Amino acid sequence: MCGIVGFAAGENVTDDIFAGLLSLEYRGYDSAGIAVIRDGRIECEKVTGRVSKLKEAAKGLFGKVGIGHTRWATHGAATKANAHPHLSYDGRFALVHNGIIENSTELKNELAGLGIEFKSETDSEVIVQLIAKNYLGDPVKALDAAVRRLTGSFAVALICTDFPTSVFAAKKGSPLIAGVGKASAMLASDILALSPHADKICRLEDGELLEMRKNGFGFYKEGKPIEKEFEEIKMKNIKTDKGQFEHFMLKEIFDQPEVAKSIIEKRIKNDEVVFPELDPEIFSDIKHISIIACGSAYNAGIAGKYILKELMRLPVTVSLASEYRYATPLPLEGTLTVFISQSGETADTIAAAERVRFLRGRSVSIVNVKDSTLTRLSDYTLYTEAGPEVAVATTKGYTAQVMTLCLLGIWAKRNERSVLFEATEAIKSIPEIMLRLLGTKDKAEELAKRIRKETSVYFIGRNIDYAVALEASLKLKEISYIHSEAYAAGELKHGSIALIEEGTKVFALSLIPELTDKTISSIREVKTRGACVFAVCREEDGATAEVSDEVIPLPVVHPIVGAVCEVIPFQLLAYFTAKYRGADIDKPRNLAKSVTVE
Ligand code: GLU
Repeated sequence: MCGIVGFAAGENVTDDIFAGLLSLEYRGYDSAGIAVIRDGRIECEKVTGRVSKLKEAAKGLFGKVGIGHTRWATHGAATKANAHPHLSYDGRFALVHNGIIENSTELKNELAGLGIEFKSETDSEVIVQLIAKNYLGDPVKALDAAVRRLTGSFAVALICTDFPTSVFAAKKGSPLIAGVGKASAMLASDILALSPHADKICRLEDGELLEMRKNGFGFYKEGKPIEKEFEEIKMKNIKTDKGQFEHFMLKEIFDQPEVAKSIIEKRIKNDEVVFPELDPEIFSDIKHISIIACGSAYNAGIAGKYILKELMRLPVTVSLASEYRYATPLPLEGTLTVFISQSGETADTIAAAERVRFLRGRSVSIVNVKDSTLTRLSDYTLYTEAGPEVAVATTKGYTAQVMTLCLLGIWAKRNERSVLFEATEAIKSIPEIMLRLLGTKDKAEELAKRIRKETSVYFIGRNIDYAVALEASLKLKEISYIHSEAYAAGELKHGSIALIEEGTKVFALSLIPELTDKTISSIREVKTRGACVFAVCREEDGATAEVSDEVIPLPVVHPIVGAVCEVIPFQLLAYFTAKYRGADIDKPRNLAKSVTVE
């Protein structure tokens, strides 16, 4: 995961490195470090914890080239010794790494056998030691020789005391972008870190290497120089602030009606759903839709499955990208694969997209971040237009994904007027329904107080309610750290009901009139065993209210609107529960926003 930055300029680069790291902190925040070259020597500072702490610790550092890192530990605990940059045994090189080196144990043993002493438990340190061992005066050659021995994924940036005006880099599998501005050259894992300074950017492809100086770049592949084009930066100076909200997550929850409005403006013209970026015939010979994603995007895919099946009457399957990428490959004829990822940099989803491409499958990506890696691996990209999402736990990113899936289903059936009209009208009502659901804030806060001391909470629902239950549960566990699970209501009795005891808190979701009686039976089953049930159901649904302990009433809505909006009270519930438990809401422990490692 992690974020890496490198700068080469005519002046001190440390402030630019700190600013870059701050904007990349969403990628990892367990420790951070910086290294610069000053008077022919490497100076390095590392801390456990946040970039703000590093800034304080590294106040005195000065250098015209430097590299920085904010870590999401994969190999070795979040200690100062394991924080990056890592220095070579001879003090000549410092390196930052994003990714996982799968053969690090083997390489470590080999290098240790040559007498090289390791200072950290990381997989990353082997890279810098290998470089130092291969070095014969040309850092590009030494870096090239080292990365050829690596298996796994990496984006690395390197400085060398013999070349005090250069930063070197290489990549395979993890993102790396070079940028050029008026006074400096730079590189980073994400455009966010480059956008304040860069006028033009250039993405490195797997297998490429780079030497960057303040006024020039050299690119290499397979040992030879190559030419690469820089392009104008599209996302310039992306500003993110919390406004009057206490946390980014709360702001982003409240952003949702506006996001929905802008999606409608972009996608519905004269009452017709439009996707100008898609080939109008894309669905013509499609017999199956395969959705691939991770985390909340996977939950959005499950919601999409119910909606797309309903609208398109086609089989829809949803796979976790981390499972799909290693499953037996099947022919993709007649299949449209839909990838979903907020960042467009999710490592498992990217690997799945590479596989689909290799199998010559037709694909569409639903992505929030412009020009991200996934957009270049699929045939078509649909941007969700959720705007920058800062809180690690997604809210508006998720609802924008579900909404885009719904619109895609409507567009696919654009020749069937009956489907079209009702569903399009439903989509148009989403911003208003979202506003009403934001009005459940006080109720959500009250329920949060009631569950804040729980150790386990359960969510049950059927059909779309089950899809939303999955996301509601994930939201709660990821930011409040309360264990929670979502079950298809009818499945509970096949085992998991054993967990229900006196006082267990169960949230029952029930928006679909045809399934109300069935969900009521499930509520009765858990209540009989002592559960305390909080129901989220239609305001007119007195029967569910009667069997439940508390109710959050929801407006009576079309299933499409339900699929998109029903999650909002649960986003608020998760937020307030985390707040009452004193958790770090925007940066929950052990998580990072962009999951760029396996
Ligand atoms: N695998 C490396 C480590 O554990 C890098 C992890 C990251 O990408 O932050 O230090």
